[in-house]
Amino acid sequence: MGEKRVLKKMISSLLCMIVLLFISVAPAVAASNEQSGEPLTVGVPVDRCPVFYLDAETKEITGIGVDLMRIAAENAGYRVTFKAIAEKSLKEALDNPSYDVVMPFGSAIESASGKPSIVSENIMLTPFTLVTVGDRKLPPLNNLHVGMLQSNAGVAETVRRRYSGIKISLYESMSESVDALRSGEVDALLNNSYVWSYVLQKPAYNDLVVQPEAMLLMDFRVGTVDTAKGQMIITRLNDGIKALSDTQRQAVILDYTSRKLYQYDFYDYLYQYGLVVFMGVLLIITLIVIATQKVRSVRKWHDEKMRQVMDYDSLTGGYNMNGFRKRVETLLRTYPDAPYFLSYNNIRGFKYINDSLGRQAGDELLKFWMARSKENLSEEDEAIGRIDADHFAVLRHIVEEERMREDEKNVFNPVQNFFINQGRDYRIQICSGIYVLTPKDFRNIDVDHMLDLARVAEKRVRDSRKGAFEFYNPEQWDKGKKIAQIINYLPSAIQSGDIQVWYQPQVNYDTKSVIGAEALCRWDHTKLGWLYPFEFIATLEEAGLIFDLDCFVWERVCQDLHRWNEQGKHRSVSVNVSRDDIQEDRDIPAHFQNLIQTYSLTPDQIHIEITETAYAENPSLLIRTTEKLRSLGFQVEMDDFGSGYSSLHMLKEVPVDRIKLDLHFLSESGDPEKSRIIVRNITRMINEMGMNMIAEGVETVEQADFLKSIGCDQMQGYYFYKPMPVKEYDDLSEKL
Ligand code: C2E
Ligand code: CA
Ligand code: CA
Repeated sequence: MGEKRVLKKMISSLLCMIVLLFISVAPAVAASNEQSGEPLTVGVPVDRCPVFYLDAETKEITGIGVDLMRIAAENAGYRVTFKAIAEKSLKEALDNPSYDVVMPFGSAIESASGKPSIVSENIMLTPFTLVTVGDRKLPPLNNLHVGMLQSNAGVAETVRRRYSGIKISLYESMSESVDALRSGEVDALLNNSYVWSYVLQKPAYNDLVVQPEAMLLMDFRVGTVDTAKGQMIITRLNDGIKALSDTQRQAVILDYTSRKLYQYDFYDYLYQYGLVVFMGVLLIITLIVIATQKVRSVRKWHDEKMRQVMDYDSLTGGYNMNGFRKRVETLLRTYPDAPYFLSYNNIRGFKYINDSLGRQAGDELLKFWMARSKENLSEEDEAIGRIDADHFAVLRHIVEEERMREDEKNVFNPVQNFFINQGRDYRIQICSGIYVLTPKDFRNIDVDHMLDLARVAEKRVRDSRKGAFEFYNPEQWDKGKKIAQIINYLPSAIQSGDIQVWYQPQVNYDTKSVIGAEALCRWDHTKLGWLYPFEFIATLEEAGLIFDLDCFVWERVCQDLHRWNEQGKHRSVSVNVSRDDIQEDRDIPAHFQNLIQTYSLTPDQIHIEITETAYAENPSLLIRTTEKLRSLGFQVEMDDFGSGYSSLHMLKEVPVDRIKLDLHFLSESGDPEKSRIIVRNITRMINEMGMNMIAEGVETVEQADFLKSIGCDQMQGYYFYKPMPVKEYDDLSEKL
């Protein structure tokens, strides 16, 4: 870098003088250009700006070497034409007769075909300098490994002759040689100083440093094959070269080396301004992103506004018919198992209110009604809309009577007394029709149809001349209320002990001993009294709550087993697993594993009953779960065998420990003889397959004897024991 600066200083101090000189030389050159003379074709390389290169604008060959040669040749009476040499090296170019002479040479060399050559006097002394990566101390040239360009092979030969120990590698291009330098393949690169002054302007090369101490001076001569014609040309040229003054030389050199010849290409800009460009692009992208988001948010805002106009009632701020319909559709899809009713409410004689008390009074009443209702509803899963004039539609969860009365107190009474509370003697009457949604309404959602049905009930109220409410489908209301009572009371029932676990003993009819028990739940409901599983299991499954109940039952069973273990009674209990419990992310096997660890049980104490039909519905997950449970040591039983359509198929596919054959399903079929044939054959098959088997639903001694006679000893049924509370089961086992 330092030497570049020295060079610049020299340039500026000489600039004045040179400009003057140049002014005096230039017209001479220009004048001689016009001179006619003998033609002389000079072959030159064009890849080493500023010595020889193609001018970007004029496309002519130009450079220091060209200008000096032209002056010398014209001094000798020639009219020169420069031609770019197409050959790979000067040696080859010597053999090409289309050039009269070629250049530049350090000394005479043989042509590629072996012809001797002759060279002219020296046109100028060209400095060759070394370039390294960073500023580093170099050993003497004799011990160096330097890189040069292939096109400088002639110079390389001269250098080798001069410095016997030097090692030179030749490269096809500048960038290849720079790569070699950077990778440490060579110690330095050697090239014409003028070329360096040009090449090092490339931004990507700013790590390269000129080593001025190691400068070599090379001759710069014209050459041609040694023939009579060649000798004649060289002799004439020598005269012209002699006439070349040092001032002329320096003027030309300085002219080219002080010009900003290097032109940035795309990659140079990228290198130089990469970060700026990157930041610019980033900025543009950011701006685009911000702009799109802005556009989006404006559009969203606009859509929202439109939606408000479309879906909301401007007077009360609640939904209008359109909005209410959409909201109800969404809610029914979101909560497909919730017990809901839909009511249609109408003010009797609203027209009279508007006429006698004024339109504004009517509006105030409507606004008040909407506000009161909204306060009372859950915005999350209920909805209200003013669907036209004085008609309000409400989608509401079925609640208990008390809650209904609360609604009456909080909404209906204040609305009815709206004007009375203002000191006006007018009591409002509201007529409501209620439609209770059925499971079908969730599958095929038709809000208008449901509203029509509610309207039918409302009409009945209106015709009765009293303000009240009526159901379109009262039986459904009772059902809905029961569902609501099951769903709503489950958490507190689990907490308070209203749900109990009963045990039904399982026996070996042969040995007359109790071999285990099945855990079955019973619910002593606060409102509904004793409930049997058939009254609530399906509802809990539909509401997605069965897992809560089952977890409670399983834990209670584990607690009992733990207690019995402490008393030295190692028992086993069968528990029911609903098909809905088995879901990928619940990991039932891990759940049971945790339970037995918590209560210090062994896995064989837990028998897990999975109903046969569950396997038919989702075979792969169930089979995987079953395999996992069994690998952990739990006993898996296929419950209700014989109830499904694919029992025999299941038998083959599913790896379980025990089959639980339900006599119910088989005896339902009618002909008792046929049932016996089926049971006999199923039993034989299960025995032959080496599986365990228990028959449940055994109600008579005949059934028990028959089962024994066909080889099924394990039984469960009312004939032996009904399900009993744990206390009774404890007492029973004491007696046995
Ligand atoms: P299940 O698993 O097939 O249970 C056997 C049912 O048959 C029990 O009815 C039991 O009381 C009844 N039973 C036993 N012996 C006889 C008999 O000789 N004759 C007649 N007619 N019935 C008999 P329960 O307790 O009402 O349970 C009904 C169903 O509810 C069970 O059928 C089971 O699928 C389900 N369940 C019961 N408890 C639970 C539980 O904790 N979780 C789950 N997920 N389901 C349960
Ligand atoms: Ca069962
Ligand atoms: Ca069963």
